Amino acid sequence: MSRAFDELKPYLDRAMALNTALVLFEWDNETLAPEQAGSLTGNVIGILSGEYFQAVNNDQVIRLAEACSRENDLTKAEAAQVRELLKEIEKLSHIPREEYQEYARLTAESARVWAAAKNADDFSRFAPVLKEIINWQKKFAGYRAKPGQKKYDVMLEDYEPGFSVERLDEFFDLIRKEIVPLFKSVMESGVEIRDDFLSGSFPDSVQEKIGRFVAEYVGFDFSKGVMAVSAHPFTTNLHNKDVRITTHYTDRLDSSLFSIIHEAGHGLYEFGIRDDLTQTMAGQGASMGMHESQSRFFENIVGRSLSFWKPVYGKLQEAFPENLGQVRLEDFVKAVNKASAGFIRTEADELSYSLHVLVRYELEKELIEGDLSVDALPEAWADKYEQYLGIRPRNVREGVLQDIHWSQGSFGYFPSYALGSAFGAQLYYHMKEEMDFEGLLEAGKISVIREYLREHVHQYGKLKDSRSILKCTTGEDFNPEYYVRYLKEKYQKLYGLSQN
Ligand code: ZN
Repeated sequence: MSRAFDELKPYLDRAMALNTALVLFEWDNETLAPEQAGSLTGNVIGILSGEYFQAVNNDQVIRLAEACSRENDLTKAEAAQVRELLKEIEKLSHIPREEYQEYARLTAESARVWAAAKNADDFSRFAPVLKEIINWQKKFAGYRAKPGQKKYDVMLEDYEPGFSVERLDEFFDLIRKEIVPLFKSVMESGVEIRDDFLSGSFPDSVQEKIGRFVAEYVGFDFSKGVMAVSAHPFTTNLHNKDVRITTHYTDRLDSSLFSIIHEAGHGLYEFGIRDDLTQTMAGQGASMGMHESQSRFFENIVGRSLSFWKPVYGKLQEAFPENLGQVRLEDFVKAVNKASAGFIRTEADELSYSLHVLVRYELEKELIEGDLSVDALPEAWADKYEQYLGIRPRNVREGVLQDIHWSQGSFGYFPSYALGSAFGAQLYYHMKEEMDFEGLLEAGKISVIREYLREHVHQYGKLKDSRSILKCTTGEDFNPEYYVRYLKEKYQKLYGLSQN
């Protein structure tokens, strides 16, 4: 082990400890913290954030990190930590401190402004703040851009290293060319899939019981994880022995059920990260997209398949005999895959989901690189929904104001949602060659599938980026054709469409 790294290590440990505390507060805030805790706890979080900033971004750490990067006796895990640290330092060092603080003040308030505007269904209340956020984002990206690099590329790189506008244009062109017409023919097929039995009154306690069962069934280990309730389901990871997921219980049975499988998928990724990486700067998922690939893989490719439910559907019927007692397994699986033209991304089915992301990608690109103005955004949004999904939002609450991301300055984040689905499909077709995928699910041997992903994806944390994970596992660079093939095969079959 190198000496500079030994010297650096305590600083890194301190930064990670502060980060862990911040993450725990975030979790607590969303789940158990009492209503009035807000502002006093906010002070603590503010102080801890400042300490974290100091712990990572000080002269001693920068000196040591640079010394480490010149050494060649680092282990892979150490080298990855140094690389991630330098990335973090690089990000902060180009931005003048006063500007960063001003921006932090703006974004600390902006989510609240967004929420109020959404509530009031009034875009004009959010527009001034959004303009400021975009100006800052462009300015910061301009500081950080390498010669010839697009500003939007800088933003994308933060969420999905290795995916530039050029590559994403190819990906989304394919979605536009293949999935938009597929979705249209599904909507025009005249096929009615019954799903009324998924709505009704389902006692929270029973939903929780079956949710825990399903989480455990896919491999979520409750000795290293917990599950709680929050307004919007999410996953928090402290390290590979403490992973926390949340869900919400509604009058739609599939809502909590599949959100639990989704978050458990994120959880499995975190459990699987190697011990020498966890709680270091390289101890998280490879990228946003790769993380989302795992959650969506378990939720959709595994969780919404007939094979998955064969061994366990009886349990679900037992839990809800009045609603599902008379519903055949095949009809249940059809219902949870039903496609529909809806306004809200987070409620979208697997097929239309990619179109919701397509809309956001095109708009972000035009906002950052093109000449779309913030004032014209609500109309542009509605036009694209009409073009791709055949529906026009009646108001901004279910249109342009539905997502929190832009209010937090997260430009470049949305594409990872669709990329994740595409990564998952590529892994799926490869795994089908390596193993009897459906047969394993039918036999209840989901652990074989989970172990495969742990070995090829999860354990590496940030040692590899998403493209090299795909290359090493499937023998091929990212190839979006698998995603298109997956959606075509699945939905043509479900809706009895001719295959072309
Ligand atoms: Zn997710």
